[in-house]
Amino acid sequence: MNYASTRNSALKVQSAQAIVKGLSDEGGLYVPESIPALSKDEILALCDKNYVDRAYDIFAKFLTDFSTDELRYCVENAYNDKNFDTKNIAEIAKLKEGRYILELWHGPTCAFKDMALQILPYLLTTSAKKTVDGKQIAILVATSGDTGKAALEGFKDVPGTSISVFYPEDGVSPMQKRQMTTQEGNNVNVCAVKGNFDDCQNGVKAIFTDKDIEAKLAANNVLLSSANSINWGRLAPQIIYYVSTYAQLVKDKEIEYGEKVNIVVPTGNFGNILAAYYAKLMGIPVNKLICASNANNVLTDFINTGVYDRNRQFFTTVSPSMDILISSNLERLLYHLTGENDALINEWFGALKSSGRYEVNADVKKKLGELFWAGCCDDTQTKAQIRKTFEEEHYLLDTHSAVAVKVYDDYRKATGDDTKTIIASTANPYKFGRAVYDAVNGGDQPDDEFELIAKLEAATDTKMPAPLAATKDKAVRFEGVVEKQQMGGVVLDFLSK
Ligand SMILES: *Cc1c(COP(=O)(O)O)cnc(C)c1O
Repeated sequence: MNYASTRNSALKVQSAQAIVKGLSDEGGLYVPESIPALSKDEILALCDKNYVDRAYDIFAKFLTDFSTDELRYCVENAYNDKNFDTKNIAEIAKLKEGRYILELWHGPTCAFKDMALQILPYLLTTSAKKTVDGKQIAILVATSGDTGKAALEGFKDVPGTSISVFYPEDGVSPMQKRQMTTQEGNNVNVCAVKGNFDDCQNGVKAIFTDKDIEAKLAANNVLLSSANSINWGRLAPQIIYYVSTYAQLVKDKEIEYGEKVNIVVPTGNFGNILAAYYAKLMGIPVNKLICASNANNVLTDFINTGVYDRNRQFFTTVSPSMDILISSNLERLLYHLTGENDALINEWFGALKSSGRYEVNADVKKKLGELFWAGCCDDTQTKAQIRKTFEEEHYLLDTHSAVAVKVYDDYRKATGDDTKTIIASTANPYKFGRAVYDAVNGGDQPDDEFELIAKLEAATDTKMPAPLAATKDKAVRFEGVVEKQQMGGVVLDFLSK
């Protein structure tokens, strides 16, 4: 199978090249030329397999330039019970009224980013061997919290790689900061930047385009690469858990084969919900894809009106991983919905860059309405949902997953549709302990993070996951704080050690 670019349909590369490059030269995203189908027999056969074997079967359809041995090496090293706290890798919790919570946070950093970032290092090093053999891969990441930690855990001590993470000094939660500054591994570096997330992101982009840095690194046989969410190597692993969950629900006799399900996703950069769309294209029977946003509801408006307009107030919310005004992966969806019309994609995303706005045509707007339903809620509604679900069902949601549950509730009221529904849960509640504590307990909060967590555990009869608890006794290894202009120097210093 080949991959084209959303901004140049004529371009064709194999998956290894798409994964090593991340972004195509003209700025487009790599998309599979066709979506492989899963037959009824294939889906039924998946029911009796474990996660690793399901993952293997699905990857084999997309990464056709990988050998059997290469793919098995990747999936077995990523999806095992050393990295995840359950053999099932993802768990399904059953709530009332046909709702299934798909827990995607059983990995080492307790957020769904682990589902892709545990395997990306193996996909990337295998791809590099095929395309740029012998080069060291140096990963650079700018993070607002979850991605940095998940990438650090994924790449730590992976031979042939190193990773540098930059985060805004005052822009991450106390737990997220602890998780990153106590990171273990011999090939990792973490540095705070005096500035906000945009400063970190711009600093990383500047390093990527700095010819001087590139030449110095090339002399040492080092190639810079990125682990951000537009890389096909991060998207492909996300298709697997939707297919796997469908097979599991059939196996558990919760649904019959062929029965349609809705899928609800708390959305930011549109990667996770796009993966659900790909699962549908592969043949998983999906009724509606429900796109849930927080107060940054640019996607709700887009799906409902066909106008994407990022010229609006930016809100800092209790679900920070969804605080985003440009959802990059939407470009892939629109490429497919326009019948792979790269000219239209260039026009629309050119307009987004120059004026912050574009409007899709009537045909795409109609297709969006058929495939998706979109809704949003604010922080007050998010916390009310956490409280309600806990009181009524004794299930503790994190702030992001609560947005999804609330928007699904609105969907059901608006449509009366009672199709069984998979709701993606993207983080463990203890990652966002303060807001969750406020939602279920209210009142004053202790300043100390671990005191707060102890109170939350007592109030809800739940337990903080082991990887978060472990940060309490770990030494802080990375205390550096730099000006944004110094980021290039930090990378060169680290890579010359
Ligand atoms: C990244 C993230 C999201 C958003 O996912 P996208 O694929 O960017 O839409 C939602 N919730 C959590 C907890 C995340 O870390």
